[in-house]
Amino acid sequence: MVRAKIRLEGVVQGVGFRPFVHRLSREHGLNGFIVNTSSGVDIEVEGARARIDRFYRGLAERLPPLARITSRSIQFCSPVGFKDFSIRESRRSGEKTALVSPDIGTCDTCLRELSDPDDRRYRYPFINCTDCGPRFSIIEGLPYDRPLTTMKKFRMCPRCRKEYEDIRSRRYHAQPNACPVCGPRVTLLKGARRIAQEDGAVRKAVSLLAQGAIVAVKGIGGFHIACDALNDAAVGKLRARKHRPSKPFAVMAPDAEAVRRFCRLSILEEQLLLGPERPIVLLRKKDNPALSRLSPDNNYLGVMAPYAPLHHLLFPAGGSRLLVMTSANEADEPVETQEAEALRRLDGICDYFLVNDRPIANRCDDSIVQVMDGTAVVLRRGRGYSPFPFLLEREMKKPVLACGAELKSTFCLCKGRSAFLSQYIGDLKTQGTYSFYKEAEEKLSRLFCVSPRLIACDLHPDYLSTRYAQERKRRTPSLKLIGVQHHEAHAASVIAEHRISGNVIGVCFDGIGYGTDGSIWGGEFFTGNTGGFERAAALEDMPMPGGDKATAEPYRMAASYLLSAFGPGIAKWPRGFVRKHRDTIVPLIQVCRHGPARTSSCGRLFDAVSSLLGICDIITYEAQAAVRLQMAAERSSSSCAYPFSIIKARPMRINAAEMIRALAADLSRGTDVPVCARKFHNGLAGVTARVCAAIRTRTGINTVCLSGGVFQNRLFLETTLSMLRKKKFEVHYNQLVPTNDGAVALGQAVIANARSK
Ligand code: ZN
Ligand code: ZN
Ligand code: FE
Repeated sequence: MVRAKIRLEGVVQGVGFRPFVHRLSREHGLNGFIVNTSSGVDIEVEGARARIDRFYRGLAERLPPLARITSRSIQFCSPVGFKDFSIRESRRSGEKTALVSPDIGTCDTCLRELSDPDDRRYRYPFINCTDCGPRFSIIEGLPYDRPLTTMKKFRMCPRCRKEYEDIRSRRYHAQPNACPVCGPRVTLLKGARRIAQEDGAVRKAVSLLAQGAIVAVKGIGGFHIACDALNDAAVGKLRARKHRPSKPFAVMAPDAEAVRRFCRLSILEEQLLLGPERPIVLLRKKDNPALSRLSPDNNYLGVMAPYAPLHHLLFPAGGSRLLVMTSANEADEPVETQEAEALRRLDGICDYFLVNDRPIANRCDDSIVQVMDGTAVVLRRGRGYSPFPFLLEREMKKPVLACGAELKSTFCLCKGRSAFLSQYIGDLKTQGTYSFYKEAEEKLSRLFCVSPRLIACDLHPDYLSTRYAQERKRRTPSLKLIGVQHHEAHAASVIAEHRISGNVIGVCFDGIGYGTDGSIWGGEFFTGNTGGFERAAALEDMPMPGGDKATAEPYRMAASYLLSAFGPGIAKWPRGFVRKHRDTIVPLIQVCRHGPARTSSCGRLFDAVSSLLGICDIITYEAQAAVRLQMAAERSSSSCAYPFSIIKARPMRINAAEMIRALAADLSRGTDVPVCARKFHNGLAGVTARVCAAIRTRTGINTVCLSGGVFQNRLFLETTLSMLRKKKFEVHYNQLVPTNDGAVALGQAVIANARSK
């Protein structure tokens, strides 16, 4: 007889862990107890050593679906004679390090009850159990217990309380447990007026949607704006009201069969679509004119499956098969969570509001995933993923707060080996987003008890995230503040994600970021690791006529590249381009010659080519020109490539002049635009591989890390990967963190840690 003290850390609270351990102890005939602690669970069992060993193995091998163990330990001591196996009251002492489960889509068992007329939760939009339902979005503090969630205002009725307390019930300690008698309720509003309540509200909303109304729907982590996706007039009305002429809308479809009518769906894509995280999956569209208004520029459509019980009720048999479900936010503002605010701000956009009285503690946008290179790549990390941490290769020297960048911003809190990357916050350009950012930082650092002693931020002095870092430093002068170059942070995010210890070649193809030499970077090759990088190569920097305007108006970069390829005499320039832009080009030449800011940005090169090909001259959403260039290229299967030249220097330079001349020649010959677009993709991927090979010859480094917004381009990522793999490189890229600026905070954190004493 021995007694074992077992300590487990990870996601082990609120996921049916204690009942699982209770069952397991009965199975092995062991007595003892389990208790939730601030860092996970403590278990003590006593019995024969061999039985305890089997029990311990079972803990890891037969975990409940949502549980995850990040660390476990076992110690043996003398028995104390436990009489049974009990579940003890939670302890609230000590340092809090327990992990919080993300919000999880409704499980099959709950779905069956939802559609069973004899069940007491028939059509109840807040049904959940220990295997499913809201978690992060309702948590206000740890340990995860009802009084520390937004469910505290709902007193459980006797039947719910009985389930909650019965260890054999699948709702044992399910903190959001509720029913129509005691739990949250939905209400349908038109302005401030109540139209209907409870099931009547849901049914009414369904019929309004079918009639073409635009309805705001409060979900798990925020509001959606919904309308019938196959009703052209409704979608058009929504576009006009949202001032969103062409940015793609995400849609929701009731099941895989409905999705297959509109999109191609591989086995992996179907698994992602229906998995517990329930992200938006970018799927290849089928040729269906009904879809053109939903993502007009795009070969892909963002599709998700219902993840809250309410969503399932929005798709009755014979009802809509496809709903637009776009984040309910004004342009550049974070997703709405509070009714009053939502009502006020969405008033001009939505005809009706389907709200409920369960507060949202943590806003969380839908995540976005796409299958690239045969694997799932996260492009936006929010609901379903946050706030699960990344396990770092080594312990952090001290707790770190990394403040991230500006676009698609996130921040990152690190302690020990855990890196808590915040949920997607949005473009940090408005007061609204900035307040969300500050609020989320306060909540997450409190939730995970991280009090940073080191702060990392971007080098850009005007980013709100940089200002936030400086403000923190002013308030607490003992904090150490480290500025991290934007693209080095991108490279480091891949190193952190894949826990790479040796030196790497970091390839960062991105929009724009502050360089260390005063110019604007964005097409960079580094060598080194988090402790220090050397800039080994870069795209040749180009004048950016009009500065920031060049980002919104791609024809400006086109003029800049033409000037470098053909000189100032516009007689030699491609005629189509001159004809179209005669009034704007000549002044742009002057601007370029007067030495505006220069950039090596790869994103701006994509913009220039897109404009030259007549695809996009002015954008209405971020990266539109590059996205449309990719879409054109995907329509060609050409294996030809435009030539880029490499200038041997330190750092090496990639020169695009020859490529631009070849492209102009193709244009004047009347070559198809998709072929030109494809030859550009192939050429840039090819020169990337050649530059990496040249760097390898000099340094012996064989590992390449790809990062930066440009690699959201599936065609370009896959082409570059195949060229690098042909040259026998070991290649890594961002998969779990977005390759766009959502990854910067994670990279900043590991760099700041490596460079601090
Ligand atoms: Zn369930
Ligand atoms: Zn109840
Ligand atoms: Fe970036």
